[in-house]
Amino acid sequence: MLTKILINYFNWIDNVLPVGGMVRRHPYVMVFKTTNWCWCKCDHCCENSGPDQPKNYIPAQTIKDYLAQGLKDSYFSREVVFTGGEIISAYKFGDADYVPDLLMFCNKNNIGADIKTNAAWVNTSFASCVFNDMSRIIGAGRPYSLQISLSLDNYHKNSMKNNIVFIEKMSHRANMPVAIHLSTFYGDDDMYGELKRELSNRGVRVRNAIIHNPDSGTYRDVDITDNGIILLTSRATLFDGGRAKNLAEAEHSKFSQFKFLSTNLHVLMAFDSFGNVTLGENSGVKIKTNWRTSNNVARPLMSIRHDLVKNAQFHELRARIFQNWKTR
Ligand code: SF4
Repeated sequence: MLTKILINYFNWIDNVLPVGGMVRRHPYVMVFKTTNWCWCKCDHCCENSGPDQPKNYIPAQTIKDYLAQGLKDSYFSREVVFTGGEIISAYKFGDADYVPDLLMFCNKNNIGADIKTNAAWVNTSFASCVFNDMSRIIGAGRPYSLQISLSLDNYHKNSMKNNIVFIEKMSHRANMPVAIHLSTFYGDDDMYGELKRELSNRGVRVRNAIIHNPDSGTYRDVDITDNGIILLTSRATLFDGGRAKNLAEAEHSKFSQFKFLSTNLHVLMAFDSFGNVTLGENSGVKIKTNWRTSNNVARPLMSIRHDLVKNAQFHELRARIFQNWKTR
């Protein structure tokens, strides 16, 4: 009886405030902004990351515990994003196991992982260790279950040079069924063509291919190297979060608090190294709660999800009242 009353209540409130219902009912992706430390201090950084930030990392065990809890929840999409700041900096500070530990956990549990890096480390003393780990991890996992995301734009210093070295080094390794995603901004459209030309000058053959996604029934135009690396591209709009708010070209997001769905309508739930969980990965007004208590204990995933649904409902209610008041 009590369960029926609760279900009716949830259905009613989802009708009145559908944004909360979306957070409750859509599949979700876990995003871990593992650290806020970064080599770079880009003008457009929506995370305010940089070398002046704390060298703190969300512990690998905490991340694995959250993923393990997600695996018991039918709403978890089995997709995770690892980002920062710069996650590869763990190697610089002596923890060469951090990244492999996380990615091998995903391999073992059939979780699709996307690791984002600025590739600013490709000429460092530990770069060969990172490339060896990547090869081992890709070789041990399901083909294309790992995506490596790079930024190709005019804001990231030397992004063209660093990405070319990254792709060239990966393409010298045999059998690399991995997707490399290059994210550009509108206005930087020519950079991908330049990158392909430079790769070709260096002897990396990149051919065009059409791939079919049987799940969605869609086809996609991609580029593929001889050793199986698929190159994907996307273009993003620069929003005015973090340091980007100082850039004239950054766009203001009107309903930024509701920008938390990925293109395939998955809810992005982002954990940061300061102890917050936010709906949506970056800019805008945040709908958030904490994943860590004041005693430094990680809260259960279900209780975090419950708070995010409640907070989304509150933000929607507030936005509706504000909107009505403005149009009166
Ligand atoms: S945009 Fe990326 S590379 Fe630049 S400071 Fe931020 S985290 Fe670092």
